[in-house]
Amino acid sequence: MEPGSLPQASAPALQAGVDHLARTWDTVTRALQSRIRAEAFQTWFRRSALVRCDDQVLAFAVQNDFARNWIVSNYLAEMGEAAREVFGSPRQIEIEVDAELVRPRDAERETVLVAPAPLARTRATQAAPAAMPGELVLNPKYTFDNFVVGPCNRFAHAAAAGAAESPGKTYNPFFLHGSVGLGKTHLLQSLCGSILARNPQARILYLSCESFVNHFIDALEKSDLLRFRDKYRNVDVLVVDDIHLLANQERTQEEFFHPFNTLYQAGKQSVLSSDSPPKDIPTLQERLVSRFTWGLVVEIEPPCYETRMAILKRKSRDRGREFNDDVARLLAERIESNIRELEGAVTRVLAHCNLVNAPVTVETAREALREVFAARRGEPTMEEIIACVSQRFAVRASEMQGKKRTNAIAFPRQVAMFLARRLTNHSLEDIGGYFGGRDHSTVVHAITKIEAKSKSDPQCGDMVADLLSRLRGLKP
Ligand code: ADP
Ligand code: MG
Repeated sequence: MEPGSLPQASAPALQAGVDHLARTWDTVTRALQSRIRAEAFQTWFRRSALVRCDDQVLAFAVQNDFARNWIVSNYLAEMGEAAREVFGSPRQIEIEVDAELVRPRDAERETVLVAPAPLARTRATQAAPAAMPGELVLNPKYTFDNFVVGPCNRFAHAAAAGAAESPGKTYNPFFLHGSVGLGKTHLLQSLCGSILARNPQARILYLSCESFVNHFIDALEKSDLLRFRDKYRNVDVLVVDDIHLLANQERTQEEFFHPFNTLYQAGKQSVLSSDSPPKDIPTLQERLVSRFTWGLVVEIEPPCYETRMAILKRKSRDRGREFNDDVARLLAERIESNIRELEGAVTRVLAHCNLVNAPVTVETAREALREVFAARRGEPTMEEIIACVSQRFAVRASEMQGKKRTNAIAFPRQVAMFLARRLTNHSLEDIGGYFGGRDHSTVVHAITKIEAKSKSDPQCGDMVADLLSRLRGLKP
């Protein structure tokens, strides 16, 4: 081989290596995209590139320290899962900074001025306000009317509706918190829609916390902080979703404080949502915490059994095939903590039944959700507890969940309540809800009774111990 041929031979090899990295990164980021929100992906990963990949390490680069820190505090777990999915075994994730990594940004996705659909179109044809790059059409399904109200979210719903009625006056700032999938975004968007319906001229800035940070980084890079500040100050209503993402971002918190404060002083409404109350957001500046709590802080709680039933009925009815009680009960018992998952289950069941052209029954629903149910781990479900007890005492599950008070039913029902308290995280109210809507004092009574009886009566003690170990055995 001539000495000169070496570079020519290695160039394609080099290119192949680069292509390989790009393809691998493409696969990994695709796996990542199914785990994080589209907007988060756009913000933090669209300028990323794979640097190194072997059987131990997956190293990629992002455009600056800020993005790196953000990913480390928020998306490392998802990144690890994505890598594991792609490679079949875990990789150590390393993140480097490479300022050269500049891919074009699509500005449209960032800050959004909310307007209902027809209005957004009108505005787009007129001169759009220069400071607002994109407009988000409100999701029409997010309205107060479409929001199913129960004890868990009644206060949140009322407060959001109240703030929409007289923005800046009643509940300001309005801070809504609760864990994921419980309807925070739904309420925030309903609030925007309702304000706009009353006053189409209202200037509402609705954005995710990530958009805010994203703009801030952009402004920093372009040394354009003044314009950045103005943009956020010239609105009537500022709505920032998922503010907990500001945790550990001191510089951005500082920047957020200014417009927030100015708006407050000008009597303009701010609305914030978060996955935890202000004081529990790590390293949130003291003065932000105290500002947030000036107004109204409301928690949105996981839906209780009755509310889950109502949501399932409503969502299936809206899709044209209302579930009967048995089907709704099956889902409400299995899917407990998250309304988004309930909604997903409705979609899945309906799609399955349409596909196989079958009616919606407990059997077809179970079939449609087999994977979902199988994937659940940990504590036994209420359905498993009830099934186990009803088998033991030869009574029907529906009777235990019904109103009858004969001793033959009441005792197994009390045992099931006791087991539910021992083996699950359900509240007393929630447990009562499963057993014919009984209140929490009935549940306390059942638990005390079974506890006492299993101490004084060895037969009862054995029976309870056996049921407990059986149900614990259901865990993987
Ligand atoms: P979060 O922002 O708290 O994570 P979302 O507002 O995105 O939750 O809600 C998740 C899904 O559940 C959305 O599709 C929303 O419409 C639906 N949802 C949440 N709460 C309710 C409710 N009370 N009634 C009807 N749908 C709801
Ligand atoms: Mg949300």
